Amino acid sequence: MKSEEIVQITPLVKRITAGNSSVFTGPGTNTYIVGNGEDLTVVDPGPALSEHIEAIVSSSSNLSRIIVTHTHPDHSPGVSLLQAKVDIPAYGLITETTKNQDTSFKPAKMLTHGEVIEAEDHAFEVIHTPGHASNHLCYLLREEKLLFTGDHIMNGSTVVIAPPDGNMKDYLESLKMLKDYDLENIAPGHGELMPNPHAVADWIVQHRLEREEKVIEAIKEAKTGNPDSLVEAVYDDVDVSLFFAAKWSLEAHLIKLLNDDRVTKEGNQFIWKDN
Ligand SMILES: [Zn+2]
Repeated sequence: MKSEEIVQITPLVKRITAGNSSVFTGPGTNTYIVGNGEDLTVVDPGPALSEHIEAIVSSSSNLSRIIVTHTHPDHSPGVSLLQAKVDIPAYGLITETTKNQDTSFKPAKMLTHGEVIEAEDHAFEVIHTPGHASNHLCYLLREEKLLFTGDHIMNGSTVVIAPPDGNMKDYLESLKMLKDYDLENIAPGHGELMPNPHAVADWIVQHRLEREEKVIEAIKEAKTGNPDSLVEAVYDDVDVSLFFAAKWSLEAHLIKLLNDDRVTKEGNQFIWKDN
């Protein structure tokens, strides 16, 4: 994926990948331009990178609105830069917590689950998918049964679930909920277009539950533990350089086990409930 190149990925959708590739963002954040007429939608303007915003503006003079999947720093800071060049409204949701969130994002309107955004030649159904972030929205492009998943589903890397805003139980439920929709492809926030959305969602749920099993085994064995003490056993398949991020998801797993009444918590220690 070459940054800032405008790539037609479906009849209605073009993709521009920002030049912010990293271990968390894969090849970089994908911005999508949807529609062919005079009333286009921008999905996730991405990070505050001026070359990227230039590329978005140069793709069309008919940009009408911006929709945002969530407000992590690689998805929404581009909104205000883009709005400085084209005066169009942005829609999405904000979070209660501000840690690692782009607090500059001020939506013209807060979207609600199930609402439909109508444009001249396309329409999106809004799907609230908390888990990776509490304010995470997916957008279903009805004409192509194409689901814009932001960081709910990425191609090529595992999504980080970082408490307190990230929540593993919500994440699994939001993945299962996708089965209620008729979907043909996924347009992820990072990476290439993905076919078979239902199989992809199933696989991720399965993968997360397998990881949960490893958490259970590790804490059962140690009796008590926390992300620092358990990471080596639970993420023995992951490079040590990524342990700092793995610990966020591990904490999310432990909080889920706490809510499922499988462990208790005292101070910073989670304790296996032997029953
Ligand atoms: Zn994110």
